[in-house]
Amino acid sequence: MITTDRNYWLDTVAAPAGSPGPPPERADVAIIGAGYTGLSAAHRLATRGTDVVVLEARTIGWGASSRNGGMVLTGLKVGGAALQSRFGRDVARQMYTASVASIEHVETLIRTEHIDCDFTRCGHLDVACTPAQFIRFARASDLVAREFGYRLRIVPRGELSSEIGSEAYFGGIVDDRSGGLNPARYVAGLARAALSAGARVYERTPATKITPAVRNAQSGYEIVTPQGRVFAREVVIATGGYTTGVVPALRRKIVPIGSYIIATTPLPVAMAQELSPRRRMIFDSRHFLHYYRLTADNRMLFGGRAAFVPATRGTIARSAAILRRDLVGVFPQLHDVTIDYVWGGTLDFCFDTIPHAGQLDGLYYSVGYAGHGVAMATYLGAQVAAQLCGEPTQNPFADITFPGAPLGMHAAVRWGLPIVAGWYKMRDWLDL
Ligand SMILES: Cc1cc2nc3c(=O)[nH]c(=O)nc-3n(C[C@H](O)[C@H](O)[C@H](O)COP(=O)(O)OP(=O)(O)OC[C@H]3O[C@@H](n4cnc5c(N)ncnc54)[C@H](O)[C@@H]3O)c2cc1C
Repeated sequence: MITTDRNYWLDTVAAPAGSPGPPPERADVAIIGAGYTGLSAAHRLATRGTDVVVLEARTIGWGASSRNGGMVLTGLKVGGAALQSRFGRDVARQMYTASVASIEHVETLIRTEHIDCDFTRCGHLDVACTPAQFIRFARASDLVAREFGYRLRIVPRGELSSEIGSEAYFGGIVDDRSGGLNPARYVAGLARAALSAGARVYERTPATKITPAVRNAQSGYEIVTPQGRVFAREVVIATGGYTTGVVPALRRKIVPIGSYIIATTPLPVAMAQELSPRRRMIFDSRHFLHYYRLTADNRMLFGGRAAFVPATRGTIARSAAILRRDLVGVFPQLHDVTIDYVWGGTLDFCFDTIPHAGQLDGLYYSVGYAGHGVAMATYLGAQVAAQLCGEPTQNPFADITFPGAPLGMHAAVRWGLPIVAGWYKMRDWLDL
C-alpha cells in the first residue's frame, strides 16, 4: 500500500502559472495566500477595477484548497442549537442562511467563469454511528425547519441501503442542497478567473513581514517578501491553517488541525453503485469523524482526522494504515482494494469552531471554516472584497467576538493537540 504523500486531485489538473517577475512596488490591495479565500477576494476586487496582487508562499492552491474532500456543504461545523445559544436566534439564522448562500455563490461562480471541476448538486448524507446520534438528527432537523426554514430529510436505518452500501450506521440525514466538486480543478479555475479579471498572483513569494507604512501621504502597509517590498493601501490575510507568525495576533486565534485522505484504485461501476448509489458527499457524526465520497472516475476517497496534527511523512504513513482499516470497517466489500493515494493537509479551526471574517489591527482577514471551507471560504473571500469596495455585504461573521486560546495559552494548545485528540476520541467512545 502507498504510504508516501501523493494527492489524487493534483493528478487531475493542470494548474495555471502565476504572474511573471517580482511583485510590483505598489497595489491598492495585497492579499496573502492563494487558496479559495484569497483568490475569491482577488477575483471580486479585480472585476471591480481594483489593482490587486496576491502573494503566495508556495504555488497557487498549494494549501488546503487543493487537498480537501471537495464537499460543498450547507450548515456550519457548529449545529443550529449551539449557534442559537451562542449568538441568539437572529444571528444564528443569518449564519445558517450564509452557509446556504455560499453554495449558490460557488455554483454561480463555476457557471459564469466556466470552471471545469465536476461540480454537482449531489447532496450530502450525515450518518449516525450510534442510536443516540440518530435521535439527535431528528431534533436537529426539526430545529433547522422551524428556525431557519430549511427541510432536511431523515433516513431511518431500514431505508439506509438506498443511500449507502454499509451496515455500520443507525440512520442518516440528507441535505439535497449540498454539492461536490474536484477541489484542485476548482482552485485552478478560480485562479484563472482572477488572473483574467486583472489580478496578479505571485507564487513562491511569502510575506515575511507586514508593517503599517505611509507613502506619498497615503497610509497603508509595507509587505516584505524575498522578491521585494510591496506597499498596499489594504491587506487581506487569507492564509487559513497555514497562517504563520507574520500576523501574530491572527495566528494566536487559529488552531491548525491535520486531516488525511486515502483514495482507492477506480472501482468497478457496479461496486461504486453499491457503495454510494446517489454519489453523495458522506460523513459521520463523530467528533473524530470520517468523510468519504466517490470521485468522477469511481475511486472511493476516504478521509479523517487520523492523526489530528499537521501532516509530516510519519503522520501520513500512519494515517494511510488507520484510514484503510477504517474504510474496510465501513465497507467490508473493499477488504482487498488497492490504495493508490494518500495525502494530508491542514484545516483552520478557530477556538469557537466558527468562521471569522473582519478586521484585526487594521488588516482584513477571513479564516476558521472548520472543514466547511470550500463554499464558505469562497463566499467570505468575496464578502471581504465587497466590504473593501464599499459594497453592501452579508457577513454575519464580521462583528462577533473572536476568541483566542483559553487563558492565552495558544502555544500550549498547539503542542497539546494529541491530548485534545484523545479527549475527542473519548467523547466519541462515550457518545457525548
Ligand atoms: C484534508 C482536508 C479535507 C478537507 N475537506 C473539506 C471538504 O470536504 N469540504 C470543505 O468545505 N472543506 C474541507 N476542508 C477545508 C477547506 O479545504 C479549507 O477550509 C479551505 O481550503 C481554506 O481555504 P483558504 O484559502 O482559506 O486557505 P488555504 O487553501 O489553506 O490557503 C492558504 C494559503 O496561504 C499560503 N500562505 C500561508 N502563509 C503565507 C505567507 N506568509 N505568505 C504568502 N502565502 C502564505 C499557503 O501557502 C496557502 O497556499 C478540508 C481541509 C483539509 C486539509
